[in-house]
Order: sequence, then C-alpha cells, then structure tokens
Amino acid sequence: MVEDYGTEAQKEEYLRPVAENDQLSGLAVSEPQTGSDLAGMTTKAEKVEGGYELTGEKYWVGNAVEADWLTVYAKTGESDDRYSNYTLFIVETDSDGYEAEHIPEKMGMRASKQGHIVFEDCFVPEENVVGSEGGGFYVLADFFNHGRVIVGGHGLGLAAAAVEEAEAFIDEREAFDRTIDEFQAVQHTISDMRIGFESARALNWRACEKVADNDDAGYWASGGFDSEEAARAGWENLPRRTHSGDLRGRERHPAQPHLPAVAVSRRGVRAPQPAAAAPPRPRTRAGPRARRRRPRTAEARTTRRTPADESAKTPG
Ligand SMILES: Cc1cc2nc3c(=O)[nH]c(=O)nc-3n(C[C@H](O)[C@H](O)[C@H](O)COP(=O)(O)OP(=O)(O)OC[C@H]3O[C@@H](n4cnc5c(N)ncnc54)[C@H](O)[C@@H]3O)c2cc1C
Repeated sequence: MVEDYGTEAQKEEYLRPVAENDQLSGLAVSEPQTGSDLAGMTTKAEKVEGGYELTGEKYWVGNAVEADWLTVYAKTGESDDRYSNYTLFIVETDSDGYEAEHIPEKMGMRASKQGHIVFEDCFVPEENVVGSEGGGFYVLADFFNHGRVIVGGHGLGLAAAAVEEAEAFIDEREAFDRTIDEFQAVQHTISDMRIGFESARALNWRACEKVADNDDAGYWASGGFDSEEAARAGWENLPRRTHSGDLRGRERHPAQPHLPAVAVSRRGVRAPQPAAAAPPRPRTRAGPRARRRRPRTAEARTTRRTPADESAKTPG
C-alpha cells in the first residue's frame, strides 16, 4: 500500500529499510470486536495540530511487537457513507502511546507472531498519512484482493502435497494381495481429489490474472477461496475412504502431516505428473500375484515431484 499510494518521502524513509532487510513492518486493521467488517473498525484518529492522535485497539496484528513501523487503519470521519470514514497511517512502534503484547497461543500459523496493540493518544504526524484522508477503505480493499489470491495459492500448495502423498500411499499400501490403487473405489477417490484440485487451481490462476488486470478484481478474488475446497478434498477424502473412517487409520495416514501445516506451509504449488507420464502398467489376466503393480523407480518418483512440472502444467 505504501508502495502504491505512499509519497516518495514515505517510500524512502520507511519502505527502503524494509526492502533492505533492516526493518520490519506490518498491517494493523483487525480489532478485538471487528475483523471482517472493514467499515466497522472503531480505532479513532483525531485531527490535532500537525497530525492525528490515535486511540483504540488492534488485534491479531502480525509483527505488532517486532515491527519498526506499521500501516494502521483508523477512523477519521463520521459521514453516512461508512466506506469513506477511514484513513491509513504509518505509525512508528516506538511512538508514545503505542503498547503491544504478543497473543500467546494459536492453533496454527506459528511461523509468525501476532499481537494486541493499544493506542492511547498516539501522535502521528500529518506527513504519515498514506494516500488521502478518507480513502483508506478503498486502498485496503484493493490490497486484500491481491492478498486473497495469494492465500488461494497457499491452499493449492497444501492440496498438491495431499494429492501427491495420497497417490504415493495407494501405490505402496497392500491389501488382498495387491496394492490398493487397483481398487476402483480408491481410484474414484483419487479422481475426485484431482478434479477438485485442478478446478481450484484453474479458478485461482484465473482470479490472479483478473486481479492483476484489475478486471472486476473483488469478484474474482473472492472466487479464489475455492482452493480451500481443494485442500479439504485432498485431506478428507483419502483417509476416510481408504481406512473406512477408522480414526486409527487417520493418524497413520501419510497425508495427515499436511493438516497441521495448513496455516504455516511455505511449500510451492506442486502437482503430480499426469497419469500418462507414469511408467506403463503391466497388463495381464493372470492371478492376483501376477497383477501386482511394478513399484515405481526412484527416478520416476523424483520426476513426478519437480516444481518445473507444475509450471509446465499451469493453465494459460
Ligand atoms: C494468524 C492470524 C494472523 C492475522 N494477521 C493479521 C494482521 O497482520 N493484521 C490484521 O489487521 N489482522 C490480522 N488477522 C486478523 C484477520 O484479518 C481476522 O481474523 C479476519 O479478518 C476475520 O475477522 P474476525 O476474526 O474478527 O472474525 P469475524 O469478522 O468476527 O467473523 C467471524 C465469522 O463470521 C464470518 N463472517 C463475517 N462477516 C461475514 C459476512 N459478511 N458474510 C459471511 N460471513 C461472514 C467469518 O467468515 C467468520 O467465520 C490475523 C488473524 C489470524 C488468525
């Protein structure tokens, strides 16, 4: 936001040290009582001589304690148009009236720390307004459109990993004297997972293009959320069906490590090779032993997992 809407002086003073890895930054929007409703935030920025005084609370803010400065979203107006009452400010975290503490425990997302901020008559100079007074809601909404399609990518990465693990698992797992990938019901499950994954990926890529082109970006950014569906398909389908809902099986299942990773994964979006690229499967009508699938070679498995394959398969 500072890059797109900030002044040259703001970029030089605040963005440059972040880009040079000398400083940390963050964004403070959410509040204890309000998260989704951007036009319902209550932290106030009151006009005073030479700037503004901030009063209120922010919650869940990444780097609230660690950052050198934050972009803070606060209410500057009371007009009937609830979308025109907000302004963004650059706030230095060592300012008087700025207090922050860590939120101690979270279920996930442990790779970053969130905090609770209390502003008490915290002075912010006029030149630290980002964009224009009253324009904060629209700047933020535009920023979130970009953020949403990126979060969609996180979901796709998780789903890709779950599909890969599921395919590897059924290739190895044996039952009734053969590997379970020979059973049609298991193949249906894998097929459902791939359909869910490929659909979500196509949608997310399309949403990325639309957001980048600013072509009805809000509509398309909300659609990218469907990647969560793909991740769910990846996680829920296989353990449930291959272990008949047996919880013990769930614990043992190799896709399970990806569930706690949902919130913290930094893995790239990878996808398994299309089935056609797998080594040919021996076809014979002999007994079950003879029908057992030849194990894949180490080389074939490596090939299947390279990120390069992903980019080759990326929908245009
Ligand atoms: C790990 C983590 C990091 C975060 N980092 C930051 C950060 O750096 N900066 C920051 O400002 N915030 C941050 N947040 C806060 C995050 O942006 C909010 O949690 C989010 O906006 C949702 O707000 P809320 O938690 O108040 O939920 P609420 O707004 O109370 O929503 C509760 C539920 O109601 C649903 N809901 C709400 N409104 C609607 C609607 N109009 N239609 C349909 N359903 C609706 C929501 O989907 C949700 O399920 C972070 C949160 C987490 C968990």
